Amino acid sequence: MSFSSFRSSDEAAALFARLGVTPPGGDLVSRSPIDGGEIGAVATASAADVAAAVEQAHRAFAAWRDVPAPRRGELVRLFGAVLREEKAALGRLVSLEAGKILQEGLGEVQEMIDICDFAVGLSRQLYGLTIATERPGHRMMETWHPLGVVGVISAFNFPVAVWAWNACLAFVCGDAVVWKPSEKTPLTAFAVQALFERTAARFGDAPARLSQVVQGGREAGEALVDHPRVALVSATGSTRMGRAVAPRVAARFGRSLLELGGNNGMVVAPSADLALAERAITFAAVGTAGQRCTTLRRLFVHDSVFDALVPRLRQIWAGVPVGNPLDDGMLVGPLIDRAAFEAMQAALAAAREQGGIVEGGDRLQAEASPDAWYVRPAIVTMPGQTAITLTETFAPILYVMRYLGLDEAIAAHNAAPQGLASSIFTNDIREAETFLSAAGSDCGIVNVNIGPSGAEIGGAFGGEKETGGGRESGSDAWRAYMRRATNTINYSRDLPLAQGINFNMP
Ligand code: NAD
Repeated sequence: MSFSSFRSSDEAAALFARLGVTPPGGDLVSRSPIDGGEIGAVATASAADVAAAVEQAHRAFAAWRDVPAPRRGELVRLFGAVLREEKAALGRLVSLEAGKILQEGLGEVQEMIDICDFAVGLSRQLYGLTIATERPGHRMMETWHPLGVVGVISAFNFPVAVWAWNACLAFVCGDAVVWKPSEKTPLTAFAVQALFERTAARFGDAPARLSQVVQGGREAGEALVDHPRVALVSATGSTRMGRAVAPRVAARFGRSLLELGGNNGMVVAPSADLALAERAITFAAVGTAGQRCTTLRRLFVHDSVFDALVPRLRQIWAGVPVGNPLDDGMLVGPLIDRAAFEAMQAALAAAREQGGIVEGGDRLQAEASPDAWYVRPAIVTMPGQTAITLTETFAPILYVMRYLGLDEAIAAHNAAPQGLASSIFTNDIREAETFLSAAGSDCGIVNVNIGPSGAEIGGAFGGEKETGGGRESGSDAWRAYMRRATNTINYSRDLPLAQGINFNMP
């Protein structure tokens, strides 16, 4: 890694020039986790600023809901075209601000493009049902209407894609969006907003303030959460954040869509293809430096294959390239900040106390870049599940445990308080189907012979239990962004009542 010739501020300036954006400056300073350098700043929104943004968004909504959905889809189609033009620069900015490797930064922008394509198709498919009615001369149906202002709160680790999953659906559904990005990644949000405005200018007649960004931390988020005009709060982040947000939204009878922490597991069964499993485990556990909500954190390996698989994983862990995420061939970039490093060290200390044998986890490149936090991913052999394995530590730590029977492995897997993503490696159809069944994994994402991370946008994304129960992105997740009206129409000359009730007027 060539830290001597790398300056994140120069890199940022070049990207801003390419994207045609100039961060306005302000009290919220963004630092690149690559070298700890300042790359720009924006102003924190006050509660009054957030309220003003919501009111403006509500006015935009009142106009946008009357625009036919396929025309709304055209706006999203144009946004996808702008993202295609700017994928290289925006993807690199994601890497610069969030620290993920360039391939993952580009992949995140590709996810935005994919959800645009999905949403454009959806704009002609916001279907309601026609329902059989028990009354003669009547027709019953349901209609889906735009919902209102959608407040999006997002986490640092997917600084742009999570907004797009929400916003692209919200726009075709006829909603306006106010986005409170992570205070750790304000610049990517600023850039995305600029690209959206470029799109709106090409579109021509989108209402002003259809999409807005309010920058800041918890306070700005709370102002959004509490505003009565925010019909849906879609919040992505830690379970701690969800615990604070959910009751506040419920107290005003708002809707919330929660995408919270994960503590994801994989079972490697006796018949598993170990070469395949090894690749999947590595990508899922060390990719994005262990900072994905779907990162693999708990690995349950059958006793019969433990000695074939685990030493091989240790070997991979010792050699996995860690360094500047913009360098070719790099697989693991830095942690987001010092606090993440300290949380990782505390978790490893707890694992040792709880009987774990820790390999890796040490700090790398400290001399080259004292304000950046690179670590060797840790692999920890545990005697069984303990308090620390049941805790989500947002860092590359893989806890490995041995099991004897599938029922035991499934029970251990489901013992985590979170329920986001899971997978099994097996070539035994009985085992695969058991894992997928009602008595199997209790997660929102359940995979066979692929890892738990790296979902496609076509499926509904989200998880159960402390993950919050929300679903975003594909399938029928769009319904959360609309309100449903059930309509009954009488075209007869009588007024028959449901349930055969006789209510003859005197
Ligand atoms: P975080 O909870 O610290 O912050 C997330 C967002 O919530 C930020 O924008 C923050 O400013 C805001 N926030 C925090 N407290 C708030 C409050 N009381 N009211 C309103 N807003 C508040 O999370 P993070 O460190 O940025 O991200 C990592 C976490 O996010 C991990 O737990 C990870 O699993 C989770 N995550 C989940 C998903 C998913 O889809 N399930 C996706 C990405 C990340």
